[in-house]
Amino acid sequence: MSTSSSAVSTQKRLEGKVALITGGAGGIGEATARLFVQHGAKVVIADIQDDLGQAISQELGEENISYVHCDVTLDSDVGNAVDFAVSKHGKLDIMFNNAGISSPDKNIVTSNDERFKRVLDINIFGGYLGSKHAARVMIPAKKGCILFTTSVWSVIGSAGVGHAYVTSKHALVGLAKNLGVELGQYGIRVNCISPHGVATPMVTRPFGNMEKEKVEELIAMGSNLKGVVLEPEDVAQAALYLASDDAKYVSGLNMIIDGGYSTTNPSLSNVIRSLSS
Ligand code: NAD
Repeated sequence: MSTSSSAVSTQKRLEGKVALITGGAGGIGEATARLFVQHGAKVVIADIQDDLGQAISQELGEENISYVHCDVTLDSDVGNAVDFAVSKHGKLDIMFNNAGISSPDKNIVTSNDERFKRVLDINIFGGYLGSKHAARVMIPAKKGCILFTTSVWSVIGSAGVGHAYVTSKHALVGLAKNLGVELGQYGIRVNCISPHGVATPMVTRPFGNMEKEKVEELIAMGSNLKGVVLEPEDVAQAALYLASDDAKYVSGLNMIIDGGYSTTNPSLSNVIRSLSS
């Protein structure tokens, strides 16, 4: 965990809150689930990796963190997950729509149609269903927080990232904005978290399950901010802030955690630098 993470961990910032985290059995979702529990929240992990989800629940205690099988593309699964959280803990304060997959197709002509639809189904429709069922229980409570894990690819494109993935993350920001507009009247805040590359299974898998440290080196080579590595815990810290009362008036934000990557385009500078060296 980063230094900044441990520095703020003495104060419980989610005491009394109930959170549901999709894709919470691994990567960013798991790091967030662990941090939320550390900060006093009751957490429900909703995922399709049953063994991993159940193991986290057993490790941290059923009373703090429970696991429910949930495919985010299925309305009934997502509805059940929300109902489970409410029946177990009496309410739902935080809905973290985090589950997502990447897309391999970077060539539009050879792109696989079914794969394209599958990415949109999980990344966008899954977030839509999570928000719909969360709003169902948050509106009567007149409060709540809905979060999405989007991506730095929600604000820029990349030749190295699949079309479906970039499409899905841009779309989620649109969904979040519109939800924030509708749900503001009920005191519900809606925000996005957009990280740069993090060496989670989603990223190491396409590299043939390359070692995490090696993938981190590759990401660092193309990063703007040097000397630090973006870890799942850093993204979890952003989720913690946005979910906590510290962010009580923050809604409609796409919080970009990319070390400044999306604020610059080094292509021309690199050409100029190579000419002058
Ligand atoms: P990950 O693969 O480690 O975690 C994704 C989780 O989602 C897994 O536990 C997986 O089982 C779950 N999942 C996949 N399909 C599901 C489905 N249909 N229903 C329920 N759960 C499902 O990857 P991660 O990096 O932790 O990704 C989490 C989120 O962060 C994703 O939305 C991803 O797009 C986003 N993100 C990741 C990065 C990165 O570089 N790792 C950067 C920006 C955004």
